[in-house]
Amino acid sequence: MAAEPQGELFKSAVVPVEIREHARVRRLTVRVYPGGRVTVTVPKGTSPAQVQRFVTRHQDWISRKVAQFSLDEDYELPTSIELPSTGDTWIVHYRSGRPGFRVVADRVLEIRHADEDREMAHRALAAWAIAEARRSLEPWLAAVSAETGLVYRDVHWRRQRTRWGSYSRSGTLSLNVAVLFQPPEVVRYLFVHELSHTRHMNHSASFWKLVESHEPDYRSLDRQLTEGWRLVPSWLTARPSP
Ligand SMILES: [Zn+2]
Repeated sequence: MAAEPQGELFKSAVVPVEIREHARVRRLTVRVYPGGRVTVTVPKGTSPAQVQRFVTRHQDWISRKVAQFSLDEDYELPTSIELPSTGDTWIVHYRSGRPGFRVVADRVLEIRHADEDREMAHRALAAWAIAEARRSLEPWLAAVSAETGLVYRDVHWRRQRTRWGSYSRSGTLSLNVAVLFQPPEVVRYLFVHELSHTRHMNHSASFWKLVESHEPDYRSLDRQLTEGWRLVPSWLTARPSP
């Protein structure tokens, strides 16, 4: 999806800002993700001074957003989980016991953790989300692959804050488990997008043409996916993968 993070950190007054150079963008844009990570996307060749001016100009907005998201870090552990991707609503029970999760009945999830250990409960929830993505989304991915004739070798599910998916030359798709919280048409679009990378390892015109041939509405779905982070609950995004 997005350009590979450049790994370069840019010091703003309050938080580190990650700069991403992107050949296709015309303007500088700033985004703050749940968890408080800040990225600035810049056209190729933008000078550090230009970036600094841009960050300074938007400093107040960035600080406000980061503060807002750190409040969200005080998330509540969910007692029910709605998954737009599948239309399912799961009920969640918490018990003390050996840490982990168990599906105890149809769409009833039991999370076990040591008393008051939120971090442990949190980790068990995240592990369940990955198991649920495997169970409910992988057959669907396989169906889209069969339908489009775009073949992959393997799929890995990850918890990431900034990327929805990627494809490696070895034939492995990496998909963000947060896609569980996107509506079905957006999930299918992500599948088509990443599968199309099996033919084109870039975002060239031929790549988009291939995407379009399988999903004519791809522009609006791509926008929905970009904005889809707001549908993802804090308990899933609050911390990076263990
Ligand atoms: Zn892509």
